Amino acid sequence: MKITFPHMGTLDIILSDLFTRLDVDFVLPPKTTTKAINLGVKYAPEFACFPLKVTIGNLIEGLEAGADAVVMVGGIGPCRFGFYAEIQNKILHDMGYDFEMITLEPPMADIKDFARKCKKIASKKTLWQILQAVRIVWKKAVAIDEVEREVLKRRAFEKNSRDTTVAHKKGLAVLKEAITPYEIKEAREKALSLINEVEKDLRRCPLKIGIVGEFYALLEPYVNFDIEEYLGQKGIYLERAVYLTDWMGPSKKNSVMGIDSDELAKAAKPYLSHFVGGEGQTTVGHIVKFAEEGFDGVIQLLPFTCMPEIIAKSVLPKICKELDIPVLTLIIDEQTGRAGVITRLEAFIDLLWNRRKKKLSAVGC
Ligand code: SF4
Repeated sequence: MKITFPHMGTLDIILSDLFTRLDVDFVLPPKTTTKAINLGVKYAPEFACFPLKVTIGNLIEGLEAGADAVVMVGGIGPCRFGFYAEIQNKILHDMGYDFEMITLEPPMADIKDFARKCKKIASKKTLWQILQAVRIVWKKAVAIDEVEREVLKRRAFEKNSRDTTVAHKKGLAVLKEAITPYEIKEAREKALSLINEVEKDLRRCPLKIGIVGEFYALLEPYVNFDIEEYLGQKGIYLERAVYLTDWMGPSKKNSVMGIDSDELAKAAKPYLSHFVGGEGQTTVGHIVKFAEEGFDGVIQLLPFTCMPEIIAKSVLPKICKELDIPVLTLIIDEQTGRAGVITRLEAFIDLLWNRRKKKLSAVGC
């Protein structure tokens, strides 16, 4: 059995490491490009949410490269993600691909089924060995996210354009090579020090923007036009609401972002008091938190037709007014062009600088 899986940010690094440790034969599809998007758009339903289209494109490329099994995760709640594996399975079989779909549903739903499927994927290992491998790879995943979080904060201060990006790439390469928990700890320190060593101008007082929204739109840079890198180059200090391990972590303690789901639900409660699927409620909670922390603005990213984020968007006018924080919503699909996104970002940055200047002049600065 040769497994493939779709891309999402640094997921390829994590799963490649895990499958290698578990002696699983796998095929990594090419990184997401326009080719994968065009393939997905051609075969997925027109009004499916955008991540389904892109991931179908990834899977077609993986199957074409020789895979005969697909691993997907399932989902719960009122969001179409829970149907992704079913729809992908049907579309790809209708296209004539002969493969097996292995859907890992959340373990709390049926722990025995989860264990059986893990054994099926890693048939040469015992459940204990699988658990140990997951435990170690999880440490690496958290370290990768922690380094990414630092990159978003520090890029705003770099003296020479792209130095932080180069340091980040070097740090990721070091982390990729780490095998044991001790090596992962050392690699994390090395990656953080590489970023720390980038020459900085600490006199700057950058704009602070929070990035919230649907997990796939946040985590896959090709799909969001790598807006984090773009904003960082513009000297913006960024915080992102969701990291890969925050999204995958079963406990919802959100170790990287550091705000657990109960706290977010509490922050969101005056505007959205119940779970609406996906990140809808956490998007609202994070916007409230960013406003409380004095951020200058927030950007909400969502795929076209994403129901949970549309619900979150519907309460934004009230939040913006009551908490005095501007929010720019960017809706992404295959029709979205980079130039249009950049134009809107530039206008938003101008608006935030003007607000900053007005606030400073009001207090006599
Ligand atoms: S969160 Fe939105 S875009 Fe993502 S799978 Fe659910 S409905 Fe689709």
